[in-house]
Amino acid sequence: MSFEHLARDIDKRKAEHLLRVRTPVTINQGALIQINDTFYLNFASNDYLGLSQDISVLQSYTEGLSEFGASSSASSVLSGYSIEHEKLESVLCSALNKPAAMLFTSGFAANHALCQALSPDNSPAYIVCDKYMHASFIQGAIDASAMLKRFKHNNMAHAQMHLENVPPAMHNNSLLATEGVFSMDGDYGDIAALSKLASQTAHSADHLNNPLNSKSLAIKPWLMVDDAHAFGVLGTNGYGSLDLPIARQSEAKNTPANIDILMGTFGKAVGTSGAFIAGSKSLIDYMVNNAKHYVYSTAISAATAKATRQSLALIKAGQQRERLHQNISLFKRLCDERGIELMASDSAIQCLVVGCPVAALEMSQRLADLGLWVPAIRTPTVPKNTDRLRITLSALHQSKDVSALVDALSICIPECIHT
Ligand SMILES: *Cc1c(COP(=O)(O)O)cnc(C)c1O
Repeated sequence: MSFEHLARDIDKRKAEHLLRVRTPVTINQGALIQINDTFYLNFASNDYLGLSQDISVLQSYTEGLSEFGASSSASSVLSGYSIEHEKLESVLCSALNKPAAMLFTSGFAANHALCQALSPDNSPAYIVCDKYMHASFIQGAIDASAMLKRFKHNNMAHAQMHLENVPPAMHNNSLLATEGVFSMDGDYGDIAALSKLASQTAHSADHLNNPLNSKSLAIKPWLMVDDAHAFGVLGTNGYGSLDLPIARQSEAKNTPANIDILMGTFGKAVGTSGAFIAGSKSLIDYMVNNAKHYVYSTAISAATAKATRQSLALIKAGQQRERLHQNISLFKRLCDERGIELMASDSAIQCLVVGCPVAALEMSQRLADLGLWVPAIRTPTVPKNTDRLRITLSALHQSKDVSALVDALSICIPECIHT
């Protein structure tokens, strides 16, 4: 048989309890989803603000559809780029205070394209990134043949060590990268510290005067932040890591973090789909010309761009963000009262580490029996022995939904976790 590895892989996954299966949702209404004729409270959605169902966002979609049709029908460099795309880019630029931005059909494509742009064939980049960065970024760096160094999660000393070891030929092409909110843990990337590290690395540089000192950089590395889970949720106006109050960016120094490149997605808190990269004009111009994910791919629809712009206006107004943050506080407080130990997180992503894939699946199933949809996240998505339940909270949840979840957890934990 041809390509026997396909079936072999599936068999192996089954044997290891790591087979992923898809379950079609038949109704998605508020915080409820229907699967196999049964309704569940949904704690597995990244629609943190409920904006994918907001009436004014849907209205903007409809208007966009009637104005531009259901598809953009071409690449952005042909006729797929509309005034709606341009308006959205412009909103992003002023919200993030960046000179340029461009849209992608997905965050995966955006990260992959970015790595490729920074690491062209003839001049590989030196990329120092957090170990827990998303697969789209890691895979992008690998496929771009960048020299990839991953530092232990939020470990600045380890990041610094990698930065100090940049080969001289790569001094001018080094990138530090992290996430605003980590997708599988829910904690924050230490952007302030990385930003400081980047500028210190540059300032300590005098290898031009002292060619023997190859340990320092003449030029500051760029800092890139994948803000997939922070964009729409964090910051004064909800615009993510570039919009944080200075106090949170840097406890000590009161200097705003300097983020050179921000990637954000629309499929999570924004409630539509697609993604963007914001950065320097030359970066964006280069990618418009060279990123194959952009040049050879149909642009996101104008309707999506229009709905996304409406969603950003709601995000700025803040009502849904406030509701989300109330739910997060309530959930953490109730868990604390019941002695339920969560991973440290102040974000909408709250994790309960179970420790093995079988127990994680069992617990997820028990919660489903109680009417709650909480997925088990297993290795290799998360490190071995940290298999977990990943709970995502939303502005769509009512207080009683959050209480129901905590009640169910306190029933299931003693049944499923045997220590
Ligand atoms: C979801 C996600 C992506 C990919 O975005 P899509 O638009 O879903 O392709 C990239 N990075 C992180 C951290 C994510 O969570």
